[in-house]
Amino acid sequence: MQLYRIDTLFDCAIIGGGPAGLNAALILGRARRNVILLDNDTPRNAVTQESHGFITRDGIKPKEFREIAHKELGRYPSLRYEKREVVSVIKNNKNDKPSFELLTSENDELYQSKTMIIATGLKDVLPNIENISDYYGKSLFHCPYCDGYELRDKPLVVIIGEQVQGFHFIQIIYNWSKDLVVCTNNGEAFQNSKQKTLLENKGIKIIENKIKNFEGKNGQIEKIVFENGEKFLRKGGFVMPQLIQASDFGKELGCQYNPLGGIVVDSYGRTNIQGVYAAGDASVIAPAKLIIAAAEGVRAAAGVNMDLTQEEFLG
Ligand SMILES: Cc1cc2nc3c(=O)[nH]c(=O)nc-3n(C[C@H](O)[C@H](O)[C@H](O)COP(=O)(O)OP(=O)(O)OC[C@H]3O[C@@H](n4cnc5c(N)ncnc54)[C@H](O)[C@@H]3O)c2cc1C
Repeated sequence: MQLYRIDTLFDCAIIGGGPAGLNAALILGRARRNVILLDNDTPRNAVTQESHGFITRDGIKPKEFREIAHKELGRYPSLRYEKREVVSVIKNNKNDKPSFELLTSENDELYQSKTMIIATGLKDVLPNIENISDYYGKSLFHCPYCDGYELRDKPLVVIIGEQVQGFHFIQIIYNWSKDLVVCTNNGEAFQNSKQKTLLENKGIKIIENKIKNFEGKNGQIEKIVFENGEKFLRKGGFVMPQLIQASDFGKELGCQYNPLGGIVVDSYGRTNIQGVYAAGDASVIAPAKLIIAAAEGVRAAAGVNMDLTQEEFLG
């Protein structure tokens, strides 16, 4: 394989151009740091039409959010953006100073940097229901703070599997709509019978049959179809997906993970591996929000700049 080594040694390589990576780039650009931002443009919220809850940007389309961010980053000459997928990262140590080599899939380019920020986010693994992905992000969501307002007072389905937080999830959604049907989809969703009784006393119907698929148009749920042939009218709902890291770079570099699966960082985004920082959903896991990811990007960028400045200052 012919590798194309990019000559520049960047101060920081950011993998992932969601709100975390973008805001990290903004702060580092303003700190006059030489940065490469590598992003393969497959963000977690690509399936949604609108994003909510980010003050001044409430209701914005995810694509428009990125376009505005790229325009702002364009003001800073030390920032470079490339639409690339990073396929591997190697850490080198020379005189106790770390450096990184990042290999991308397109053109087999090799980028080199003194530090790196993992901002690759999460992926949602949905329950195994035939056409669920046609509805996810359109009328079926995972986060009531993001999309509950648009579904307020509608007849909703709440799909929970065997997650420990299932009961809590239903209670929270009850805040937006009292017309709830809970589907356990054949899983052991409740920890005890008391939880079921509490829900039933609130008028919440619990259906334990397995869901076959959904009926509806343009991603808007109209009916839930069960494997036994029964159908139930609904106008939308919530589901608890399984959350997995979108990349394994943290694992490969030896970063510590918390019990929820997030990369452990300090308040400046530093991981336990020198020179490696993490930001956004990849470290936060929950609550996963655009504005929190962006803020985490700021923390990590400040950490990178602080550590590099100190190193340069002290020689
Ligand atoms: C259906 C849905 C609706 C949502 N609605 C809202 C909402 O209304 N409001 C809200 O605040 N939050 C919402 N969220 C949550 C929000 O999308 C996340 O919290 C946020 O995107 C996290 O930002 P991030 O930068 O950490 O990760 P992401 O936005 O996922 O960005 C990660 C980036 O890393 C890139 N990447 C990954 N691996 C590689 C690689 N190997 N090489 C190069 N690039 C890579 C990806 O392409 C992506 O661009 C929603 C999420 C979902 C799933």
